[in-house]
Formats: sequence, structure tokens, C-alpha cells
Amino acid sequence: MAAGSGPVGKRVLVLDDSNVVRTLIRRVLTEQGYEVRENASGENVERLIDEFKPDVVVSDIMMPGRNGIDVCRALQADPTTAEIPVILASAKSFDADKRAALSAGAAAYLVKPFTPDALLKTVANVLGRQFGLTVWGCRGSIPSPERAWGKYGGNTSCVDLVLPGQRHFVFDAGTGIRILGNDLISQSPLRIALFFTHYHWDHTQGLPFFKPLYVPGNEIHIYGPEDRDTAMSTTIANAMGGKYFPVSIEAFRASVRYVSLQEQTEPHDVLGVSVSTLETLHPGTTLAYRIEYGGRSVVYAPDNELLPETCDPELDAEALRIAEFAKGATVLLHDCQYSQQEYKMKRGWGHSCGDALAAVAAHAMPGRTVLFHHDPDHSDEQVEAIHTEFRAGLEKRGVTLQSECAREGSTLLL
Ligand SMILES: [Zn+2]
Ligand SMILES: [Zn+2]
Repeated sequence: MAAGSGPVGKRVLVLDDSNVVRTLIRRVLTEQGYEVRENASGENVERLIDEFKPDVVVSDIMMPGRNGIDVCRALQADPTTAEIPVILASAKSFDADKRAALSAGAAAYLVKPFTPDALLKTVANVLGRQFGLTVWGCRGSIPSPERAWGKYGGNTSCVDLVLPGQRHFVFDAGTGIRILGNDLISQSPLRIALFFTHYHWDHTQGLPFFKPLYVPGNEIHIYGPEDRDTAMSTTIANAMGGKYFPVSIEAFRASVRYVSLQEQTEPHDVLGVSVSTLETLHPGTTLAYRIEYGGRSVVYAPDNELLPETCDPELDAEALRIAEFAKGATVLLHDCQYSQQEYKMKRGWGHSCGDALAAVAAHAMPGRTVLFHHDPDHSDEQVEAIHTEFRAGLEKRGVTLQSECAREGSTLLL
């Protein structure tokens, strides 16, 4: 890249105890016009940042003394440095390490050894603000433990979007939230916004097992739709304690705040992030959410029935409303529980099939469509057959889009 274009003037602070690695990173980045400062450890990083004012930090995880995760957590916890993206690099390529890095607030994770291209691409991406979306459960209706060894998992709905500043935006508390909680617990104190789409079992059953709720010092904001006659906090209190569970919400030790929501396309501010809501077609009051951050957007609509007559031959009514709501989203996660054949038997149950979702996606044109809320009785092959129906629906409409089936344990970098 010629001087004067692209990243000229952008500063990168490199932390690595290996002289060889630091030299390599410096050479690759300076050749492209970045300004680079190096340090052989995680010590004194705050002073260096104060002097050098980097736009991004690239840090090794395994360093003697203060490791990269600790550095990242400290920077993200301090409001004066929280906006500086940190790229963590490690020779470990396990999903758990990647998640630990993202949970510590890392903007990206690089597996060593990395190529110059991978380094440049990652730095360029985080300067455009990249963040991670992890699926912890994507089954609908009821957990299906027999699916745990399949491709898509057996836990019910739970998705975690980690934004800079260690802000977790968690959607639904299906059984997947238990594993998310276990993963996060060592990183307390945590700041979490938890959004319920509605209170059916497959979206609430994991809540009592979400350990961060029982840790003093954690800050948890719970959002969910308000029914006409019952406050949201009462609905949650009723689901725990009394007849249904041995422990009541009185046992929570985190600072928990309950906020009822209704459909509101004017965005709410949640932990400094813009959140919009839309009522979906599903038994009981159910919301879809749209989160906007750093020029990216995620739409989460796990339970929504798209009536075929509102999708074909022309999109209208509720189908048009959700398509407008999801317009241009970076990622759309949407209900796609049934095959076309099954849908005919289960009309009115609140879920969608592939062709109807294709009609909505063809209008909304999201960067990526993720088929969500898999039927508990569906094998991997049946889940994939529904994806094939969705792809055929796109093709029929002359549209090319990226799409996939939601997979438990997967992390999408946005
Ligand atoms: Zn559901
Ligand atoms: Zn439901």
C-alpha cells in the first residue's frame, strides 16, 4: 500500500515477549503504513498507551508476568482505554481460548503462527470494529440431549454478543445460558444485558442456572416484553420459587435491574448501545431485537411465524414488517423450525419454514442469514434439508445471500 493511503497515521501497540515475533509484526505493519510501538511484556502498558495513544493493541496471550488476557481485561474495564480494540494472539486454537479472549473484551483472536495477510486483515477489521456473536443454544421447544453429539447441539435458545468494554448482550435464557454462565463466571465482575424475546420454557428454563446472577458485584440488566396484566419481573419471579423451582429470585446476589419493553422501533439505549424491538407473530407477546453497534447490526427473531400468504406472491403484513426491521442487518438470526411439509400441519404454532424466510431475506438482504430454533426432533440431515429449502427459496427469487444453520458453540466474528 502506498504511503498516504489506508492506515497511515494509525498506531499499533505490539506486546509480545518474543523478539522475533515483535520484529515480524512491526515489519509487516510498518510496510503498510502503520506506526508501531513495541513492548516485550504486559507491564507498564497503561503508561505506554498514555504516551503513544494507539488505535489498536496486538498482544500475545502467553507472556511472563501480566498475560494478554489480564492486560485486555484491565484496558476494557477502564473507561479511558475501553474503546481501544485489543487483538489477542495465541498458539492455542481451542474454541475455549478464543471465547476467553473475546469474553475478556478482545476485539479479535489470532492463532499463532499467523500469516502477514491474516494479521493485516485482522487489524483492518478491528479498526472497523469487529465483534463476536456466540451461539450457546439454538434448539426450539425443548432441549434435546440426544442432539448434543450432532452438529447443531441440543440446548435451547441463547446467544451472546460481546462488545468492547466487556459488555455482554445475551439473548434468551434457554438451557444454553447455563454453559455461557459457567464460561463467564471466572471473569466477574460482569456487565450483562439479558433480553427475553418471550417467556416460553425454551427461552427461560436456563435462567436459574445462570451463575453470574448469584455473584455479588455483577451488574445484570434484564429486558423483556410486558404482558398486559403482568409485570415482567413478576413473570420471572413466578417461573422461579414456589411451585416450579426450589430457589426464588431473592437468591440473586448480583445487582439485577428489570426493564419491561414493548414494541418500539425508536431505539432504546442499553449500556450505550442502540436496541430496537418489534412484536412478532407468535403465541403470547413476543419481541424481536435489533442491535446496532459500530456500523454493524444483529437482528434476533427466534420465534416468529411467517404466514406463506404474506410472503407469496408479494411480501406484506407481518412478513413485510419483519423484513423492514431486518433490512440491511449484518446478521439476521430467524426462526426456521419446519420444513414446508411440516409447516402445513403446524400452522398457527408460531414458527416458520424455509421458503417463507427466503422471501423475507430476499427483501431484507442481510449480510448473513442464520436459520435458528431447530426442531428438537430434527436430525442434522433434517436441519440441513430445511436450509436447502431456504436456499431454493432464494434462488427462486433470483437472490444470492450468505446463509447457514445456527450451530451451538460457534462464534461469528462480525
Ligand atoms: Zn421458542
Ligand atoms: Zn415460543
